[in-house]
Parts: sequence; structure tokens; C-alpha cells
Amino acid sequence: MPDLTLTSLAKRFGENTVLENLDLHVRDGEFFTLLGPSGCGKSTTLTSIAGLHTPDRGTIAFGDRVVFDAGRVDVAPERRNCGVVFQSYAVWPHLSVHDNVAYPLKLRRVGRSARAARVREVLDLVELGPYGKRYPHELSGGQQQRVALARALAHPPDLLLLDEPFSNLDAKLRERARDWLRRLQRRIGVTTVFVTHDQDEALSMSDRIVVLDAGRVRQIGTPEEIYHAPADEFVADFVGTVN
Ligand code: ADP
Ligand code: MG
Repeated sequence: MPDLTLTSLAKRFGENTVLENLDLHVRDGEFFTLLGPSGCGKSTTLTSIAGLHTPDRGTIAFGDRVVFDAGRVDVAPERRNCGVVFQSYAVWPHLSVHDNVAYPLKLRRVGRSARAARVREVLDLVELGPYGKRYPHELSGGQQQRVALARALAHPPDLLLLDEPFSNLDAKLRERARDWLRRLQRRIGVTTVFVTHDQDEALSMSDRIVVLDAGRVRQIGTPEEIYHAPADEFVADFVGTVN
């Protein structure tokens, strides 16, 4: 699995500076969380990594492979090999669980029998082995989110990008989903960038966290560092510690 390096990434929408010279390094196999209030640029960062958004300046590299260098390199999203899960489940309602997960493999022209084997494998991985023939409306929210995750993992991604994947789940399910996702990520070792505005979620799941405020880095550190030694008042306020 490659590491991920963002260098001086910048993005504006009109007058609104959304990312300002963002520098980040996510280590190979790490569970790295972008944490910050709504509107601080988390999703813009994630979609830039996936290639769904074009930054104005800066570079993005997966290992030593540059996938974005403003004005020079811009590798298409489908060639960046990221598995992406968004906040809304975005599973196709008219396709069975099996066909949802098989879809990215079909796009990549994986043959029928290899496809079926891989779908079985990845549905087992997310503990939905017996659910292949069901349709999304026959599943709970948490199960639908696992289908989306299975689809993101079907063609083994170099990077897993998760944008507030639990925010549509109720509190109890959300807590279970955290533990479950974290165990799965450790087991498969995929480098993961996780986006949340929920401090508890970030603190309980991450190897390291970056706290963002209006497109700028406030602090990067382990959950312990962020919680016990916040860099400034913004971080202290946001993670709910009192100095
Ligand atoms: P977050 O995910 O942290 O809530 P976003 O990355 O979605 O933040 O948005 C950061 C800022 O960029 C917000 O002010 C938002 O309004 C703005 N923004 C995001 N996407 C667009 C867009 N397509 N056009 C204009 N402004 C946008
Ligand atoms: Mg967002």
C-alpha cells in the first residue's frame, strides 16, 4: 500500500478560500482522520485526492506516483484506484447487493467467474455473505453502508477514502460501526483517509488526526496528543478539552 502526500494544496471557490497550502502526509497502512467543523474543507480534500475535484495549486502523490500536479499531471479518477464511500450510501437501489459490488469489477472487465469469486470474498469480509441476492431497500442503514464499503474494496484500492460514512446511522449503530470498521481496516491494512466532524469518532478510531480550520492545519497528531496537548484554543475547544 502506498503512502499519500499532499503538498501545498490550494483551492478557492470564487472569493472563498477553501484549502490554503495544505501539506499532509498519510503513512502506508495508516488510519488517518480529517477532523474539523462543517465547511472547513474536509470533503474538498477527499474529493481532490480521489480526482473528483481539481485543486488550483499543489501536488498529490500516491507513493512516488504523482497523480496531480497543477497544470501538468491530472490522472483520471478511475486510474487513481481509490475506493470511496460517501455520507449517503449511494448504493444503486435497482441492483442487488451482488450486482452493486460487482459493478466496479465489470467496469474493469474482470471476467464473470473471477468477478463472482471476488464478490463473494468481499461480501464475506463485510459480513454480508448471505445477502448477495437482496436489494438495498431490504437492508438496514448499517448494512447498506457495508455494501458501499464492499463496493469500494471490490477492486482492491490503493487508498480507501471515507467521507462521514456513519452520519446517517443512529447513535448505537454508529458506535458498533466504528469498532467494526477499525478492525476490518487493521486486518486488510489499506491506507485510509477518514473524514468526520465528530470528535469522539476521530479520537476512538484514528492512528493520527489532522484538525482543520477553514482549510488550514491547526494540529496533526495522535488522538492522545490532540486530546491531551491541543496546539491552540481552537483545537482545545473543538475536541472538547478544557485547558
Ligand atoms: P466540509 O466537508 O469540511 O464540510 P467542504 O469541503 O464540503 O467542507 O466545503 C468547504 C467550503 O467550500 C465550504 O465553504 C463550501 O461552501 C465550499 N464549497 C464546496 N464545494 C463547493 C462548490 N462546488 N462550489 C462552491 N463552493 C463550494
Ligand atoms: Mg463534508
